[in-house]
Amino acid sequence: MNFFSSTNRSQLKNHLINSEFDLLIIGGGATGAGIALDAASRGMKTALIDKQDFAAGTSSRSTKLIHGGLRYLKQLEIALVREVGRERAIVHRLAPHLVVSEKMLLPLIEGGTYGKYATSLGLMVYDVLAGVESVDQRIMLSKETTLEKEPLLKEDILEGAGLYAEYRTDDARLTLEVLKTASLYDAAAINYVEALDFIYENDRVVGAECKDLISGESFSIRATQVVSAAGPWVDELRTLNKSMSNKRLHLTKGVHIVIPHEKFPANQSIYFDVSDGRMIFAIPRGKVTYVGTTDTDYHDEKENPVTNKEDVEYLINAVNNIFPTVNLTIDDVVSSWAGLRPLIHEEGKSASELSRKDELFISETKLISIAGGKLTGYRKMAERVVDTVAKRLSKKKNTHYKKVFTQDITISGGGFETPHDVEVYKQNVLEQLAPHGFDHHDAAYLVHNYGQQTDTIINYFFDQKKLNQEGMLRSELWFGINFEMVNSTMDFFSRRTGRLYFDIGSVKMYQDIAIEYLSTELNWNQERIDQEIKWVKQAITLASEFPPSESNV
Ligand code: FAD
Repeated sequence: MNFFSSTNRSQLKNHLINSEFDLLIIGGGATGAGIALDAASRGMKTALIDKQDFAAGTSSRSTKLIHGGLRYLKQLEIALVREVGRERAIVHRLAPHLVVSEKMLLPLIEGGTYGKYATSLGLMVYDVLAGVESVDQRIMLSKETTLEKEPLLKEDILEGAGLYAEYRTDDARLTLEVLKTASLYDAAAINYVEALDFIYENDRVVGAECKDLISGESFSIRATQVVSAAGPWVDELRTLNKSMSNKRLHLTKGVHIVIPHEKFPANQSIYFDVSDGRMIFAIPRGKVTYVGTTDTDYHDEKENPVTNKEDVEYLINAVNNIFPTVNLTIDDVVSSWAGLRPLIHEEGKSASELSRKDELFISETKLISIAGGKLTGYRKMAERVVDTVAKRLSKKKNTHYKKVFTQDITISGGGFETPHDVEVYKQNVLEQLAPHGFDHHDAAYLVHNYGQQTDTIINYFFDQKKLNQEGMLRSELWFGINFEMVNSTMDFFSRRTGRLYFDIGSVKMYQDIAIEYLSTELNWNQERIDQEIKWVKQAITLASEFPPSESNV
């Protein structure tokens, strides 16, 4: 049975209720998804629940880079840079349509964070640690060449630039595709199911009391081992488990803003200095450029962190300082998102100084919690967790589990031999769709979102009557319901397609059609339809309106 179809939700729930799992994972962000794939592929009977949509926490709110974290080099986090640096190439190989090579320009400016020689040396060390192939290794550019690459940069303070290799992705889609791949190994993953409490036997955690937040039904899931990969909520579950220690999470908020490309026509990705000593990214993507991030301590509610006016002004000022002809104002910002970094608290350190390393907490009742880390390192983090779980299970069940092999498991939608094959496939998609009014942006959107699954969507598109943008939207919705567990309108517009951030106009234009389509397919009553209308409105407001922060009201 295809458990990733929203139409099979009750069968999936029955399976969760009636089975005894080896492993239950709480949290369907990048970390939980990585653990699910690793565990299921090693032969463990695996279940995963998320109280929101998959990736609705931090894993849809990052800078969307698969990167080694150049700034961690400055903090001398050598092991972290090496690990995530090397992971980049692996994840790129496993999903080349979704993890795309992206050259990053690091402008050198008067009084900037890095001087010319430190930058050259730093980027070289970065390349060596990450094992970057020689053709892709950093090059240093003169002032003139830098301006050719990015004419918007402020000429009088520019001294040159470094150009180095990174990768860009869509965090939510990566999370989802990893989970879908896990389901091919029989992992049972479900969204909108919350763990409310743990079940104990002989002083050990053996499952969770859960609630289906769609139907309101309560049930329990039993498992020999339980892992909490609850990101910013990890401490809530540790509190429930009565296992909070001196080590605790320290949440910091990071905001990104989205600007139409014609208003901020960045030629390429840039990592540039801000006057307070921090650095931020500007990344062109389709018809927009996005800019981020901020890094401020956070103590508010975790489901819907807000982009404040002050966050937007900080990012706008940073852009206007180094790209003086762009002249951004708050009215140019069409969308935004705010995410929470689940970092490990260190006494006396500020938000930006905290380490991005991951850490395992193991409670007396044997709950394993994992926090910290980066999207880029999800596979290695999963390996560490699943090694621990395998050791325990082997003892208990007298079985032997395979070693990790997720480095060789193609992520669903992948299956391209080389990045060139992705381009050929994209061209083929364009040729099929161009006669119906689609352009290269549409082809790139489909292929970078869905990879080779675009074939399934296009076949459906040609089988229905509307061979236009609306027909394509309906085809994507059909795919989302039947293969990607879309259970709400914003699952589709945010986590499945990124439209809320990168094409918010299409959300406003197509919200009624999407709600009507989903309500028919998922049998929503009028009350649910009204709720969905409200949720879409709220999501658009949250992304595009920026209230002053409370301390300034
Ligand atoms: P989450 O994605 O938050 O997942 C936790 C999940 O647990 C949530 O979906 C939540 O709903 C669920 N949950 C919580 N409690 C319960 C419960 N009781 N029952 C059921 N489910 C529950 N990393 C990079 O590699 N590259 C970047 O460019 C990058 N940029 C970043 C920029 C920002 C602004 C931020 C904030 C982070 C960035 N990161 C980046 C870090 C990266 O995004 C995170 O490390 C990663 O997404 C964390 O994933 P996670 O699965 O641990 O947490």
